[in-house]
Amino acid sequence: TCGICVEKCPFDAIEIINLPQELTDDPAHRYGENAFSLYGLPAPQEGKVTGILGPNGIGKTTAVRILAGELEPNLGRHDESPGWDEVLEAYRGTEIQDYISAIRDGEVTVARKPQYVDQIPEQFDGNTRELLEKTNERDALDSLVERLSIGPVMDQAIDKLSGGELQRVALAATLARDTDFYFLDEITPYLDIGQRVTAAQLIRELAEEEGKSMLVVEHDLAILDLLADTLHVAYGEPGAYGVITTPKSVRNGINEYLAGYLENENMRIRPNPIQFEEHAPRPIENSEILVEYPDIAKSYGEGEFSLDVRGGEIRRNEVLGIVGPNGIGKSTFAKLLTGALEPDEGDTDLDLEISYKPQYVTIDQHMRVDAFLSSITDQFGSSYWNTEIAQPLQLERIMEQNLSDLSGGERQRVAIAACLSDEADLYLLDEPSAHMDVEQRVQATRAIRRYAEQQDATVLVIDHDIYMIDLLADRLMVFEGEPAEHGQAGTPQDMRDGMNDFLSNLDITFRRDERTSRPRINKPDSQLDSQQKREGEYYYAP
Ligand code: ADP
Ligand code: ADP
Repeated sequence: TCGICVEKCPFDAIEIINLPQELTDDPAHRYGENAFSLYGLPAPQEGKVTGILGPNGIGKTTAVRILAGELEPNLGRHDESPGWDEVLEAYRGTEIQDYISAIRDGEVTVARKPQYVDQIPEQFDGNTRELLEKTNERDALDSLVERLSIGPVMDQAIDKLSGGELQRVALAATLARDTDFYFLDEITPYLDIGQRVTAAQLIRELAEEEGKSMLVVEHDLAILDLLADTLHVAYGEPGAYGVITTPKSVRNGINEYLAGYLENENMRIRPNPIQFEEHAPRPIENSEILVEYPDIAKSYGEGEFSLDVRGGEIRRNEVLGIVGPNGIGKSTFAKLLTGALEPDEGDTDLDLEISYKPQYVTIDQHMRVDAFLSSITDQFGSSYWNTEIAQPLQLERIMEQNLSDLSGGERQRVAIAACLSDEADLYLLDEPSAHMDVEQRVQATRAIRRYAEQQDATVLVIDHDIYMIDLLADRLMVFEGEPAEHGQAGTPQDMRDGMNDFLSNLDITFRRDERTSRPRINKPDSQLDSQQKREGEYYYAP
C-alpha cells in the first residue's frame, strides 16, 4: 500500500514507490476530513485546447467546478474558507495565476458538456430544435447542426435519440453557447471516427478562431492527440485523491502515460508499458475455421436501410474487429448472427451459441452486482473466474453495489463480464470502450484477448477506438456504404488490408510516434499524409 489507501490499491495498476511530491504540499481542495482531496489544477489558456488524461473519479469535475468559480477551493482546510485572495497567493507564479485572478474578479463564464449524455432525456422534455434554440448564443447553430449532421433529427423528441445522436446534440448545445471557458467531459462515446474527428475540429476552431479556453477530458488517445495543445495527466487513487500534473506537451503526456512513467513527477503509474506493434501482425495461417457464413442480405423494408454481407469465415480463437461508420449495419449484422433478426437472403442459422453485449448497456435493475453475475454463471467466485474475469475487469470493489448505482464505466465492465461469463462459441461485444477510461480499456483489452486465448473462445468486437481495435483485433471486417441507406460488409481481412480499406474510406492516415511507435493521425495534406495515400499505406507505414 502507498500509505494513503486503506487496503490494497484498488486502482490495481498504480504502484506508488514514493509518496508523490505534490502530496506533501497542501491540496487545492479537500471535501472533508478523510474525504477526497485534489492536488494541482488544470490551467486553461485563451485560444488553446487543454486536455486532461486520467481515470474517472480522480477529481476532474471538482477541478472544473473550481475553474468555473462554483466551488471555492479550501486549500485542504475543510473547516474554513481561505477566500480567493489567499488561493491566488497560493498559485502565484504558476500557469493558472491569471485564470484564478479572473475567477476572483467574477469574470469567468462557463459552458459544460456532461459525461453521460444518456441522462439528458431525463432532464429535458422536448425535441432537438427546442433544446438547441435555448443555447444559440453565438449564432453558430446552423453550422454546428450541419457539420454534426443533426438536421435529420431536429424535430425528433430527445428521448427518441440514439446515443450517438445525443452525443452530437450535446456537443452542439455546448459549443453554441457564448462563454469564456468550455468544459467537455468526453466527446467520443457512441461517435464513429469521422464524427470524432469533426467534433475535434469544431473544438479546435472555437479556440483558434474565437480565442476561447477549452478543457477536454478524453479517453480516445488518437483523438486527444489531434485535439489538444497541452495535456495534464491526472493520477492518484480514484475516490481518495487525485493529482493533476503541470501541463505537458500532448505528445510527451500521452507517451509517458502509455509508458506508465511520468518523467517530471518521477512517478510510476503502471507496472508495464502499453505497446503498439509497428508492423501488421502476421496472418494466422492454418488456424481452424469456427464457422463459414454465406452472402447475406437484409432490408428493413421498402426504401429503408439495406445491408449486404459478403460471405466469409470466422476462425477459432481469433478476435475479429468490426469497423465502419455509424448507421452502416454493424448492429444489424450482429443481430442477424444472434438470430434476433431474420435475413431476406442467406442462411444465418449457424448453429452457434452466441453471447452478445449490445451497444447500449441496459442492466440497471435493483440488484447487486454479485447477485447479477452469479445468476449468469455457476463459475462465479471460482478462482478461475476471479483471475480471468473479475480481476482484469476490476470488479471486486463494486460487487456489493447495486447495478442501478454504477457509473457508466462500471456498468460497462459488468456487462463485459456478464457476456464473457456465458458459455458460448462466439462472444460479440458492441462498443466495449464506451465510458471506460484508458486504464480500464487496456485492462479490458487484456481480459478479452486472454479469454479468447485461454478459453478457446472466439470474439467479435465492434468499436470506434482505433487504439483499442489495434490492441485487440487479429483481423478486421470493414463495413462501408451510405449510412442510414445502404451498407456493405466485406469478408474478414488481415489487419493491414483491413486498416487500409477502412481508413481510405475515411481519408485519414496515421504515422508512428518515433519514440513509442504509437499511431498518430497525420495532418490532412501533410507530406506524410499525401505520400502514404499514394502508397496505399494508411496505418502500418512500410
Ligand atoms: P471525476 O470528474 O474525475 O470523475 P469528481 O471530481 O466528480 O471526479 O469526484 C472526485 C471524488 O470526489 C469522487 O470520489 C467523489 O465522490 C468525490 N466528491 C465529489 N463531490 C463531492 C462532494 N461535494 N463532497 C464529497 N465528496 C465529493
Ligand atoms: P450501426 O450498428 O452500424 O450503427 P445499425 O445496424 O444499428 O448500424 O443500423 C443501420 C441502419 O438501419 C440505421 O439507419 C438504423 O436507423 C436502421 N435501423 C436499425 N434498426 C432498424 C429497424 N428495426 N427498422 C428500421 N430501420 C432500422
